[in-house]
Amino acid sequence: MEVLVTGAEKLSLRLTPRQLEQFKVYYQELIDWNQRLNLTAITDYEEVQVKHFLDSLTVVQAFKLPLSKGMKLIDVGTGAGIPGIPLKILLPEIELVLLDATKKKAGFLEHIIQQLNLKDVEIVVGRAEEVAHKSEYRQQFDLVLSRAVAGLSALVELTLPFCAIGGRFIAQKKGSIETEVQSAQQAISLLGGELTDVKSIDLPEFGDRRWLVVIDKVGETPAQYPRRPGIPAKRPLV
Ligand code: SAH
Repeated sequence: MEVLVTGAEKLSLRLTPRQLEQFKVYYQELIDWNQRLNLTAITDYEEVQVKHFLDSLTVVQAFKLPLSKGMKLIDVGTGAGIPGIPLKILLPEIELVLLDATKKKAGFLEHIIQQLNLKDVEIVVGRAEEVAHKSEYRQQFDLVLSRAVAGLSALVELTLPFCAIGGRFIAQKKGSIETEVQSAQQAISLLGGELTDVKSIDLPEFGDRRWLVVIDKVGETPAQYPRRPGIPAKRPLV
């Protein structure tokens, strides 16, 4: 896990031996289950450390550490647990919900949280469009995270409804995102958000430009959002 250790230091994070052991087990299980389930295209040991683990940890640059105990975090469209599980390994005190529409992936998630002995993790199988209307999840989270799920205009409709007022949504993005961010402005304010920052992540490890789009939840999300499954992506709010 040397690549991860070095990268994490650049984020001012020092990983403990236990955390490194957890990342190692996560890697091994990911590769093992990936033979039966389509979990990730990235399988090389060093590449996983950078593109999955380190990339997940970069979100700490968009909030203040330490987090208070019992902070509630949801990862929308978590897939194999990215970025939620690396964050939970780093910050064991958070309460984490991993949400994904695919039932098969939940099988892996259940296995891995048990293997890593992670507490206070709930796995929810469902579409964000539906789960976000349930009272136990709607506007309940201090931090909402999401990587590689949808374009920003569609994504904010899937994520901001989960965010408590005073909470924050962090979208992880790559490449040139200026137009994407511009065209999402209307949707962001309609859903009760406020674009706070677009933070550049410049670690040599990545070899490309990465961004954290930071959106604060300043008001209620109107009850009609998110719209029905599939609609946010098909007809993004403008
Ligand atoms: N965040 C992970 C996975 C990205 S792939 C990573 O960065 O590696 C996108 C994932 O989002 C898939 O697992 C898919 O099932 C899930 N997803 C897409 N749309 C969704 C929705 N509307 N509700 C819940 N999950 C969704």
